[in-house]
Amino acid sequence: MSKKICSHSLGDYKCTRLVSAENSSVCIYHKVSMLDQNLLEQLISNRDGDWQGFKEINNITLKSKVIDFPIKISPNTKIQTMYFSEVMFCDSFIANGCTVTGSVEIIGDVFFHKKVDFTSTEFCQKVVMSGSVEFSSYTIFRDCKWQGIVELHSVRFQIPPDFSNNTFEKPVFIKGGLAKGVNFDGACFNNQLKLLGIQPYKLTVKNVDLPLDVSVGKHTPDSRGNVEKFKEFLFKKVNHWSKEILCLKNKTVIRSQKIFNYVSNFLYINQSHSSSTMSNSISGRIQFREVSFDKPETVLIENVDFSEAEVMGTNFSDVRLINIAWHKTKGINCLYDEIYARKWDAYQTRNFYPKLEYQYRHMRKVLEENKDFQAASDFYIGEMESKIRQLAPLPRIFSITYWYKILSEYGTNPKRALFAFVTLLMIYVFLSAKIEGEFNNFLDRLFSGLSLMTLRASENTMQIKGLHEWLDLFWRIIGPFQIALIALSIRNKVKRN
Ligand SMILES: [Zn+2]
Repeated sequence: MSKKICSHSLGDYKCTRLVSAENSSVCIYHKVSMLDQNLLEQLISNRDGDWQGFKEINNITLKSKVIDFPIKISPNTKIQTMYFSEVMFCDSFIANGCTVTGSVEIIGDVFFHKKVDFTSTEFCQKVVMSGSVEFSSYTIFRDCKWQGIVELHSVRFQIPPDFSNNTFEKPVFIKGGLAKGVNFDGACFNNQLKLLGIQPYKLTVKNVDLPLDVSVGKHTPDSRGNVEKFKEFLFKKVNHWSKEILCLKNKTVIRSQKIFNYVSNFLYINQSHSSSTMSNSISGRIQFREVSFDKPETVLIENVDFSEAEVMGTNFSDVRLINIAWHKTKGINCLYDEIYARKWDAYQTRNFYPKLEYQYRHMRKVLEENKDFQAASDFYIGEMESKIRQLAPLPRIFSITYWYKILSEYGTNPKRALFAFVTLLMIYVFLSAKIEGEFNNFLDRLFSGLSLMTLRASENTMQIKGLHEWLDLFWRIIGPFQIALIALSIRNKVKRN
């Protein structure tokens, strides 16, 4: 029998299979232009992931399967629907530039262990992923279009998924699962968006804190004792989470693997994390730059950790932000964009600060509307700080903003304002002694300065004339100003708390 190669080609794709029969020029799969479920089953049983060269794929329905070969689908393939349940993909899944005309349902125990790449794919109907769906490697949904509802419910991504430049036409609902971060740079949400982090949930079993929001790591259990403890925990707890594990026990290969993952993850958490450091389930490096919302009033971002989120260029007006954790420097909330920008060179940051100032001003307004006055007043500091950073050292000293910072930390720090007041008083005492040429009568000078600064006296109480009168005049001007700053700082402090 001759070894003729299939003559089928489509675009850049050239089939490499052998022909099906002597008198045929194509392989058994390429006799038709549409891959149906029957042919698909044949491909899978032959461990053949070369699903290319088809104009259309009827439905990709995979249930209770272990796929240990890479799958590749040609660009421009029309896929009708996709349904995966209890599937373990041990290798990559590549479907760039396809169109999925029907729904995508990835439900219950689906594991992607290698790269998943759907770059530039259009999803025409709803996409639902829920119930133990895990992406262990790179997950790329760059430049995708989503025409239907998108619902991701506690889907775990081990590496931040890439949803950059996506367009979402219908509501998007993401609950938890993004603990390692996510990239939404340049995304357009043309309808509702709900980005909900789940707050870590803790249970105490035998004086051991067991965080239920177990993040993932591949660590082998190293002590029998801990495994026993964990099993005990599984059988004792009657919440849905542990039930889910209980019913999974001793079923299939996939499921026992999962149990093992949970056990090892639990040990990992238990050994290296204290319960107080558990982060929100949407956290890590979140890229949220230039994101646009068509219906911002329907956008809700709740319990999300933005401490490593870049948000430059995103307009949050009318967006509801509830319980958002921002980056903190010395206890003051700030934008991670700023922290990140400091790593750049001076030239880049010079162009960056005007934009940063704008973003801070914008975020401050949004946070005020969300009644988060604490963060809003911290972001005011960020706004002023960016303003100062745009100035060269000399003009900086002559700017009112700079003095506003020095004298009261932009009217937010009463202690600083009080300290500045005392310092000004001491400078008065020093200058007064310097003018008179003798360094005595400290208390008299102190009293005189205090009287001037509080407008109790119009001239110094020591009857000194001449140059000293100019000093008095100047301190009579700055004294009340500094007192006003103290009052303002106290007012702002009260408003914050
Ligand atoms: Zn072929």
